[in-house]
Amino acid sequence: MQVRITVSFPYEAPVSQSLFDRASAVTPGGVNSPVRAFRAVGGTPRFMVSGTGPYLTDADGREYVDLVCSWGPMILGHSHPAVIAAVQEAVARGTSFGTPGEGEVELAEEIVARIAPVEEVRLVSSGTEATMSAIRLARGFTGRAKVIKFAGCYHGHVDALLAAAGSGVATFGLPDTPGVTGAQAGDTIVLPYNDIDAVRAAFAAHPGEIACVITEASPGNMGVVPPLPGFNQGLKDACAEHGALYISDEVMTGFRVSKAGWYGIDGVHPDLMTFGKVMGGGFPAAAFGGRADVMAHLAPAGPVYQAGTLSGNPVATAAGVAQLRLLDDAAYDTVDAVSAEVRGLVTAALAKEGVAHRLQVAGNMFSVFFTGAEVTDYDTAKTQEAFRFTAFFHSMLSQGVYLPPSAFESWFVSTAHDAAAVERIAAALPAAARAAAEATA
Ligand code: PLP
Repeated sequence: MQVRITVSFPYEAPVSQSLFDRASAVTPGGVNSPVRAFRAVGGTPRFMVSGTGPYLTDADGREYVDLVCSWGPMILGHSHPAVIAAVQEAVARGTSFGTPGEGEVELAEEIVARIAPVEEVRLVSSGTEATMSAIRLARGFTGRAKVIKFAGCYHGHVDALLAAAGSGVATFGLPDTPGVTGAQAGDTIVLPYNDIDAVRAAFAAHPGEIACVITEASPGNMGVVPPLPGFNQGLKDACAEHGALYISDEVMTGFRVSKAGWYGIDGVHPDLMTFGKVMGGGFPAAAFGGRADVMAHLAPAGPVYQAGTLSGNPVATAAGVAQLRLLDDAAYDTVDAVSAEVRGLVTAALAKEGVAHRLQVAGNMFSVFFTGAEVTDYDTAKTQEAFRFTAFFHSMLSQGVYLPPSAFESWFVSTAHDAAAVERIAAALPAAARAAAEATA
């Protein structure tokens, strides 16, 4: 098996650097989504020009095994022929009509068929829109204002959900960013993840005021931190007891960790759910859905307004339908097996160098925390030695393996990660583990 490793650390990326310089002159920070800028790890972000199967190629002509998969969507790998063909066929018929179309019905039917709690679904264009709309619907349905979210859970850049400050019981959200006012975040109650007692206390402190609890079905945005046994059921029960809605955000886990996402693994029945990423096949398509009696409150059936010029776009829905139809049990078996294999290699390499670490897993999603302790919430996630990840990341990058450029993100694999791709990861790991072991703060 041929393993192509040509670049050693330190290394340069002159074409990416010149593109980044151009980008920085016309775009804040040079990127259109902050984590792409490599600020957490330093160095030059790679400008990618193409992707095929498990590989990405950057503007300097270097090839990488991709362990980001566009932050989740590319579960069949890049440029899957069936998805590309569906997109080409759709594009040839026109790119946007501003009317209903069959593709959006097909995508909605795929979602409803896979996920029992979703009786009706509304398509949008991003995960942010999905969570924003679900929260609005929950407030409109219940006539209540307050929302419980968990520190370390990311639900997109919704004003009311960009509040993660505070720990302890029933801390009122302080905005995390300038531009979000106290009023916008003031109805957000931020609680520690995996702390069901804090949830019960918040309900007791605010009787009749809490519209919903929103949680990542299994969080991946503080690194992978799965719910402790019974936590999601506890959320559901607390919501049911107090007349609030339980919203499970499956933008990341949906259609990725199983055919029915995290719901397919833990079986806890949400009132509303949100989706994105995999369901768009690499295009902007997302959705929220759930109980028919709740969804009936949405315009034009009901009074809660929600709309979108490009919602249900024919090209995006064609990509999504094509991708979902290929995601059968065998596909998930493949992704799960690749994930297990890569995890085994990573942990063996780090253990060999004596690097304290913890691999946390949610289905086929996983991440490496550079700490010996179990990570159950955002506070414990932050105790890791992130400087070791930085050294590890750059060593892997220099050897042609593209990891998420932050220690607080999930890694993603695809059905296209074959033996050759795994072999390249395996070949890069010993040096990366050594770099992590030798790193200093
Ligand atoms: N919810 C979760 C769980 C996510 O992981 C993300 C994005 O990473 C979002 C919502 C927001 O989705 P988008 O980036 O499509 O707006």
